[in-house]
Order: sequence, then structure tokens, then C-alpha cells
Amino acid sequence: MADWTIQKLLNWITDYFTQKGVDSPRLSAEMLLGYVLNLKRIELYTNFDKPVDAADLARLREYVKRAAEHEPVAYLVGHTEFYSLEIDVSPAVLIPRPDTEVLVENAVGFLRQQGGRRFVCDLCTGSGCVAVAIAKNHPDCKIIATDVSSDALEIAAANVAKHGLEDRIELRQGHFFEPLLPYLDKQRFDLIVVNPPYVSDSEYAGLDRNVRDYEPSSALLAGQDGLDAYRQIIPQASEHLTDDGVLMLEIGYEQAEAVSRLLAETGDFSPPQVKKDTASRDRVVIGLKKKQVCV
Ligand code: GLN
Repeated sequence: MADWTIQKLLNWITDYFTQKGVDSPRLSAEMLLGYVLNLKRIELYTNFDKPVDAADLARLREYVKRAAEHEPVAYLVGHTEFYSLEIDVSPAVLIPRPDTEVLVENAVGFLRQQGGRRFVCDLCTGSGCVAVAIAKNHPDCKIIATDVSSDALEIAAANVAKHGLEDRIELRQGHFFEPLLPYLDKQRFDLIVVNPPYVSDSEYAGLDRNVRDYEPSSALLAGQDGLDAYRQIIPQASEHLTDDGVLMLEIGYEQAEAVSRLLAETGDFSPPQVKKDTASRDRVVIGLKKKQVCV
């Protein structure tokens, strides 16, 4: 039989993934082949006619089998791309979504507009992707990122180190604002960003298999209506913000109204802005802290 070249393998795996309903079949095939051959994606194309040896073929076959069973390719290769940055992942963290880039974009826009040195808090940091992307794109800020999961924080620490941000991102373990409470009198944030769990019980049952069977449910599930995390975070946010500080929350696309209501109920925020994702769905709610008027 003729040799399996990189080109032939890419085409074969892409067709196979398409048949099996794997997301982004070509990209997934490139990621796996690149991983097994230790080549960058672009290098696959500059080595198109290179034959692949039997040992690599055997390893590749295993990964292709697992991916065809809907195990996320990002977990198989141990990283993904977010905001044009390579971010390490493991099954302890949610795989960064393109939707979350809207949160980063707005955060970076806000920091640039404010100018000067800014202090940022990132709750539910998971892989640390949001904190890392903000720090990379706005050099003049310091970030404290928290997560309840120590396994997640290990991955976040790896990402902070990978991007050389150890002196600008500090990681702390605990539930939402809990690890910040001891510093409440000394540290107020100009910006708090959060991508909390926001999937309702009923939505969870309908998620794709690759999400439901492989990603950490604790990073996704937030009670019967998916709003539990917001109910805990929103009432506490204001006391951690500077006088004109801003809270930016990623939301499920049907949650803008409910989350805006939770913000309004605190009495601490001006009417929120809602930002859309690339599919024109509501994705981020932005609350500006009202100036406290002393009477
Ligand atoms: N958008 C994610 C999903 O549907 C959920 C992310 C989250 O709960 N923070 O898979």
C-alpha cells in the first residue's frame, strides 16, 4: 500500500470526523496530526508529502478514535487557542470559548479608555484564559484571579507562567469573592470580570456530548435557572469596586434581562449595557457602579 502522507491523513481524518459529527473536522484533524508529529499546523502544509511512520500512525489512530467518540481535541492535545494565545487546558477546566472573547474585548477596551495603571479582578478564572488575555493586551494592569478549584488553578498557573505574567497576575483559591475578603479595606478593583457557571439544569441535559461528558460540570451548572452564581456574585460586587468601577459578566444568551434585574436590585449600578457575541446573541452584561452620593 502507498505511504500515508500528511496530506492523505489530513483528508482521511477530516472525512472521518465529518461522518462522525466531530466539531470543526479539518481543524481537529490538523490539531491531532500536529500534536502526534510535533509540528505546528502551518508545518503540516509545508510537509504535505512527507510519509508518516508506523509508530506515529498507531498513536494517531488512538487519538482519532477518542476524538470520534467526542472527547474534546483540546483535552487530547492539552491546549487550545483563545484571543490568539495558546492556552493550556485539562479536563479540570472549561475549554475557552470564542464567546468569551467578547468579555475580553470589552475589558481591554475599557482599560484602554481609562488609561493609567488599573487593578482588575477575574472571578471563576478556570484556565486563566480571561486574565491572561487581558494582561497580554493591556500591559498596564495588575490582575487578581480566583477560582474555587485548586486543580483549575494549577492550569491557570501554568498559563500565567507560559505567557510570562507571574508578576502581573496573582491567583487565589476560594469561592467567588471569598479569597478577597481579607483585603477588602485595602484593595478595590477598577474592573471585575466574570465568566461564571450559567447553564440551567434543563439546558445541561441538552448540551453536546463533548461538553456534557467531558467538561467539568462545576464550571457550567448554576442551579435550576442557571442564575445561582450571579445571585451570589452581583450583591457582593459593588463593595469590591472603586467608585466608578465596572462589573462585566458573561451570560447565557437568554439571561440578559434576568441578570440586568439582579444588578438593578442592588441599587448600586447604573442601567447596564448588553453586548452581543459574533452570532448576535446577548453575551456580556456591563454594570457601571453608581457614584455614591453622600447626604
Ligand atoms: N457557553 C458555555 C457553554 O454553553 C457555558 C459557559 C459557562 O457556563 N460559563 O458551553
